[in-house]
Amino acid sequence: MNELSPEARRAYELDRAHVFHSWSAQAELDPMVVTAAEGSYVWDGAGRRLLDFSSQLVNTNIGHQHPRVVEAIQAQAGRLCTVAPQHVNDQRSEAARLIAGLTPGDLDKVFFTNGGAEAVEYAVRMARLHTGRYKVLSAYRSYHGGTGTAVNITGDPRRWPNDYGSAGTVHFFGPFLYRSAFHSATPGEETARALEHLDQLVAFEGPDTIAAIVLESIPGTAGIMPPPPGYLAGVREIADRHGIAYIADEVMSGFGRAGRWFALEHDGVVPDMIAFAKGVNSGYVPLGGVAISERIAATFAHRPFPGGLTYSGHPLATAAAVATIEAMRDEKAVENAAHIGDTVLGPGLRELAERHPSVGDVRGTGVFWAVELVADRASKEPLAPYGGTSPAMGELVATCKKLGLLPFTNYHRLHAVPPCTITADEAREGLAVLDEALTVADRHTTGWGL
Ligand code: PMP
Repeated sequence: MNELSPEARRAYELDRAHVFHSWSAQAELDPMVVTAAEGSYVWDGAGRRLLDFSSQLVNTNIGHQHPRVVEAIQAQAGRLCTVAPQHVNDQRSEAARLIAGLTPGDLDKVFFTNGGAEAVEYAVRMARLHTGRYKVLSAYRSYHGGTGTAVNITGDPRRWPNDYGSAGTVHFFGPFLYRSAFHSATPGEETARALEHLDQLVAFEGPDTIAAIVLESIPGTAGIMPPPPGYLAGVREIADRHGIAYIADEVMSGFGRAGRWFALEHDGVVPDMIAFAKGVNSGYVPLGGVAISERIAATFAHRPFPGGLTYSGHPLATAAAVATIEAMRDEKAVENAAHIGDTVLGPGLRELAERHPSVGDVRGTGVFWAVELVADRASKEPLAPYGGTSPAMGELVATCKKLGLLPFTNYHRLHAVPPCTITADEAREGLAVLDEALTVADRHTTGWGL
């Protein structure tokens, strides 16, 4: 606190006096002041530079302050700041065209929202109206947003205190080999057993009552668990068999994070809807949306869609999306994410796992990696309780920050989720910090569990 510049100190004190923060015990917070950012780095209130291995909230896929995106927002602000959703707005039209071009299959219509939770809300509403059914199936290991239905279908502990009014939400276990709910030994076994479980769940819930299966193509905040090959295709098959809408939540995994425009490309799957946000414009202006198949969209061809938002397709937000998508394309940011994952982050994190007993598992793809920390490798006891935190995790974060790295942590996991545009040297700089910081976590483990 003492080292903050006078401007940063004033911002901090006003924040503590008046700002009510997300998902936090307000009196126990000591938030970091961020004063500037560029590329893969942010600067704190004391003027220190930190490598942003969090991409803020896993959204600055194109990096910070990309000049093309900043200029597009500035130009649009000078031209036209707001247009009501019932009118045509050229930036919304162009963003929708670009997004429809990136999504697989015939997901050619886009409904814009202000973020990810709203995208999930609207996708579920469309599925319910399209099918005339009400139940929604989603994974325990998931996060779908902080609003009504989105938080109810979320599986992670953030649902617990919000778990009322959730009639019709049913959770299932997705595939996760490291902590398999099915005692599987191989990815093939995990795929088969997780699909068998979902199939049975659908049968017992009554297929004719199920409107949608909502699934993160790679669950993100809940642990970055790329599904084993064939799983998403199997979900598609189950949904098709029963006339259930398959909603892919790509809010975190989309727009390059997984080394593809959408993570479901890894399995070649076409869902009925894709919920997106974050990376669509790297969070420079709030934006989300739902890409909708022709079949679902046709439900509302002559029947009014009962829903809308004042800021649906806001000009500043969609101008930022157009510039972001075009710049990512021109600069091959998605290819870079895949390359960094394959050649630096993946091998580097696995190498750290070999030397640090606190690392139980490393998994991911692109710039979307989880390091799962354990108190004991043999028992896989997490370094923080499910839904909680621990002094060990606190020390790990503090050490990373002291060494110039801003990590993303959740419970007993550290997520390495830098911008898609990160260079190999920057990624190696992050790995070097993690190497040193993990020695702190190692002190809280019982060695190699031997
Ligand atoms: N779905 C997923 C997969 C997410 O990761 C998030 C946000 N972390 C959301 C939905 C909710 O998005 P938002 O916070 O923009 O409402």
